[in-house]
Order: sequence, then C-alpha cells, then structure tokens
Amino acid sequence: MAKKQFKAESKRLLDMMINSIYTHQEIFLRELISNASDAIDKLCFLSLTDDKVGMDRSDFRIRILTDKDNRTLTVSDNGVGMTAEELEKNLGVIAKSGTLAFKKEQDADAMDKADIDVIGQFGVGFYSAFMVAKKVVVISRAYGAESANRWESQGTDGYTVTPCEKETVGTDVILTLKDDTEEENYGDYLSSWRLKELVKKYSDYVRWPISMEVETTRKVDTGETDENGVPKMSWETVTEEQVVNSMVPLWQRSRKEASDEECAAFYKESFRDGEDPVAVIRVNAEGAVSYRCLLFVPARAPYDFYTREYQPGLRLYSNGVMIMDKCPDLLPECFRFVRGVVDSPDLNLNISREMLQHDRQLKLIAANLEKKIKAELSKLMENDREKYEKFYRAFGIQLKYGVVSDYGMKRDLLTDLLLFWSADKEKLISLKEYAEAMPTEQTRIYYASAETAERAAKLPQTEQVRAHSFDILCFDADVDEFVAQILGAYEEKPFCNVVSQDLGLETDEEKEKAREADEKNRELLDFVLSQAEGRVASVKISRKLKNYAVCLSSEGEITLEMEKYFHSIPGADPNAMKAVRVLELNMDHPAVQKLAVARVQDPERAAVMAKVLLTQAELAAGVAPEDPAAYGELVCSLF
Ligand code: ADP
Repeated sequence: MAKKQFKAESKRLLDMMINSIYTHQEIFLRELISNASDAIDKLCFLSLTDDKVGMDRSDFRIRILTDKDNRTLTVSDNGVGMTAEELEKNLGVIAKSGTLAFKKEQDADAMDKADIDVIGQFGVGFYSAFMVAKKVVVISRAYGAESANRWESQGTDGYTVTPCEKETVGTDVILTLKDDTEEENYGDYLSSWRLKELVKKYSDYVRWPISMEVETTRKVDTGETDENGVPKMSWETVTEEQVVNSMVPLWQRSRKEASDEECAAFYKESFRDGEDPVAVIRVNAEGAVSYRCLLFVPARAPYDFYTREYQPGLRLYSNGVMIMDKCPDLLPECFRFVRGVVDSPDLNLNISREMLQHDRQLKLIAANLEKKIKAELSKLMENDREKYEKFYRAFGIQLKYGVVSDYGMKRDLLTDLLLFWSADKEKLISLKEYAEAMPTEQTRIYYASAETAERAAKLPQTEQVRAHSFDILCFDADVDEFVAQILGAYEEKPFCNVVSQDLGLETDEEKEKAREADEKNRELLDFVLSQAEGRVASVKISRKLKNYAVCLSSEGEITLEMEKYFHSIPGADPNAMKAVRVLELNMDHPAVQKLAVARVQDPERAAVMAKVLLTQAELAAGVAPEDPAAYGELVCSLF
C-alpha cells in the first residue's frame, strides 16, 4: 500500500506538532471535539430537510473511549463523516486557510517562537493530535456512503487511505499515545478524571453530549450483616457512561453563568484567534423577534481581512441548530470584523440563503446588532482608550471605508468612532475631542495629508494654521481625505485642508493686501511660472509660509494626495483626476528674495534657482522628481 506524502506546508506544521514544545498540548482534545461537533452540526442540519438521515436530534453524541492496554484514546462522533476523497482533502492538506503561508519567511532560528505563534494564532485543528500521539487513525463513513475508509499516519512520513468496515455513519479518531518520557506523561490522557477535567475546561458548552466511561465508587450491600444485624456495606469501583459536558451554549447563559473570560476562551477556540477579543457583546432580546447573541470584536485583523478571501458573517443558530456558519446579512459592511453567534427560535430553519436576505426578522436583528456594536465601541473608546486604539489600529481603516462607501449612508453611525492623529497633542483624538478643544475664534477643522502622520504634521503649509495655535488633524490613509469630503463638516465646523488656497484665516483687508502683493510681484511670478514648464498651473505669493521658502498646494476639489491615490490604482488614466497645482513663494524668505534679485541681474541663474525651488516644493509634498540626477546637477550648478 503506497504511502502518500503530506503537502509541503502540512509537513512542516506536522513537524512542529510532533516536536512541539507547546505547553498547552492538552488542547488537542478540544480540537478533536470541536471537529466532531461541527460534523454533527452538519448532519443535524441535513436531517431537517432530508428524511433519509433517519436521525433525531437526541441521537447525536460524541464519545470518548480509552483503551489502557493499547494506549489508545478515541474520539468518536456520529456526524456527517468523510469520504475517501474528503479524508485526503481535509487531512492530507492543512493550511487551507493559509495557516502557514504567512509564516513561510520565518527562518529556522525563529522556529521555536513561530511554533507557538502558529498554534496560538490559528489553532491547528486535527493536526494537534500529533502533539500527543505517535499514530493517528481516522475511520470514517460519510453520510450517504455504503462503505467506510481508514486514514492512518505516524507523522511526517506520510499517510495511507484504505477501504474498511464501519457500521454507522460518523468518524472515529483513534490516537495511539506517545510513550511516556521523563518530562511528559502522555498516559495521563487515558485517565477518565483527566479527560473529564479537560472536557469541562475547554468543551463544556459544546451543544452535543460528550460521553465517556467514568470510574465512580459506590456503596454496595455485601449481603452480610454484622453482629448487630446491620447489613455490611463495602465500596466498589464501577465504570459508567456519563455525559460530562453541560451542553448549555455560552450564549444561552446569563452573565453570571458565563464570565467574560469564558466567553473569550470560547471566541479564541471557535474563531481561531490567539488573542482575547477587545470587546464581548451579549444581547438577549425579547419582543417582535427573540434572540440571543454573543459577539466579539477582535483585537487584530485576520491575515486575510483586507482581501477578497475574507468572509464576514455571524454564525446563525435556530434553537441550537446551526443553520449557517457565516451569515453576512446580520452585519453591516462597516462592522464586518465582528465575529460571533446569533441564536433565534423565531427563524425559519428551512430558509434558503436568498430568502434569508429578505427575511424580516433577520433585518430586525441586524438593525439592532448594528446599534449594539456601535454602542459597545463607543463605550470602549470612552472607558478604555488603550484597548480602543488597539482595535482602531486593526480596523480603523474599515470604519473609514464605512464612512465613504454607499454615498456616506453610514456616516452618522461611524463619525464618532473615528480617530485621527493630532499634530498638537501628538496622539489619536476623536472629532469630538478636536471640536471641544477649538478656540472660539477657530471656525474650521484643519487637516494635513501625507504618507505618514509625522510628515503631514511637518508640511510647510501647516505653518500659518499652527501660528494661530489651531490644531491640525494629520491624515495618513488614502481614504482620509474622502472621509473629510463625505463628512463635509463636524458640528457645523467645515473641514479644511491646509494646502487649500483659502484657509479662512484672513480678513478681507488682508486678502486685498495679498492681491496687491501678487500684482506687485507679477513679473517674478510669471517668470517662475515660465520655468515650471507645466508642472504647476499658477505661482502665488504665499500667506501660509513662515519659515519655509516654498510649498506646493492645490486648487479645487482634487488634492495632491487624492491624485496620488487615484494614480496608484492599477490601470488608472494618468491624465485623469489631476490636482491643479499651485506653487507658493514666501517673499520673506532670503532664498526667494535672492531669486527676485537674480531675475533682474542674472536671469539664467534665476531660472535654475526657480527650478530648484519648485522641485523643493514638490519634494516636501511627497512628489519625487522625474529625473533626480538632473535635479542634482541643477543644484550643483548653483555652487
Ligand atoms: P478545521 O476544523 O479548522 O477546518 P481541521 O484540520 O481540524 O481544520 O480539520 C480539517 C477538516 O477535516 C475539517 O474542516 C472537516 O471538514 C474535516 N474533519 C475533521 N474532523 C472531522 C470529523 N470528526 N468529522 C467530519 N469531518 C471532519
């Protein structure tokens, strides 16, 4: 019988498992039970619509069996089972979900640490069995199949799949435990007390009964009596099959019965995250629709969150039967990062996915959940800013996209959840905090945009606003300016880009003076414009600059940052969506004054100076010169 090889990445993970130094190796049991429970969920769901299943809800169970003589531990379920192809597909390859893809670059030295990361971050499911077993056999009969198959592996050298007998539909996972060593007592996993303890600890809320043979002692009548005629009793040890889990799902329990810690543990296991969620949201609603839900806000984005592969959605149950693993219609797009479970007895079980979208009850639930999530995030922002910022670093972008998408439909919901970097306070602040700190004479909310918040804070154009002691929000994400545009204003204070021509900081008189200054310097401005060769649309005397000689700003709706963003989209037309660029000169700056003198005395040199200053302005705005070498030459020619 030819051995088949594991796919390369599976082999690596397997290697890690076999040689695991992972201290929580006991989680293998939880992983196997969780697979068994999923398999039962699937068959139970089928049984709702298919009489042929011939099973009643009460027939489903998971059994744990031990055989001390052979050192085997078996987790058995009567769920959907797997065909030979499924055994190959599911157990021959791991990392379907990219478990390891992201870690490929890890070098060998970092392996030990990577082990823990990988296990901790994703959970490794079935493969964790190899942490405690030297051999794993899976005997499975798929629902609808007449015959069964046996998958067997002793680790990295590969696996075999062969036909075998099995009377009933379902799966037995049989582990032959590793030999005990000085450090590890694997035989411990044959003790019913230990196993019971593990089930209680990790799998108590699994909704299907988990039964096992448990040794108990009981009093028995020996049939004899003592000298006083009292029956003689003795203790005997008996083994009896017991259901060891309480089966009450966490979301059906009250806050007292399920602590936040327990919920967090449930989250980590069910949703394969190694980190505690930043928020646990419980809802117990009664009324037009009754439902309970347990939602989680993760602390970090899954590796595929910002890709097309990520499937948002909540797990949907009706009366404890899972009807959908990821029901997307329960969550608005802006909160797609939320994970969790919704359970409602009012939902129609036989409903199809398409019908579900139009389901009135579902819509009611979704609307309510949206409010709850918003409220919970606001609370977190208020009460635990550090945690909120952690969340925001992971999902802030998602909230911002939420503001701009669908023509700003969700903007009122999301505005108060946004944070931006404050140039003044050097930390993230909300729009409310910005508005509250505004001096009475300040009428606009100023922002500056660049690749990073630090660069935005240092833009030359910020000088005039800073001179008024007005704070500036530093935008560093492509979407930020669109957010400002969609919002338009916050508490009636309009957003204003520091690079725009009119910052609303001048009186009419000052404006008139500025126009006069432009006129007075008309020849200089025209001269510089002629040297710009189309790189800017106009040249003006700046009122923004204090210490810098020049800066680049824009006129109209499209700013330089927006232009950069549009042009970064693959296939974008390089001539469309262009910012109208304006070069601003600071007449108080010695460099500009020297340029003015040179224009009269040495126009050739002045032309070079003008070009250098223009490139300076572009550099400060994050626009790289087309020909850096030529620019270098130009600068050198001035020496
Ligand atoms: P995950 O559970 O995260 O998908 P696993 O490695 O634990 O990863 O399992 C891989 C797949 O094997 C499962 O998705 C499931 O399809 C299948 N599987 C595992 N255990 C069982 C079982 N007891 N019954 C039916 N299918 C199973």
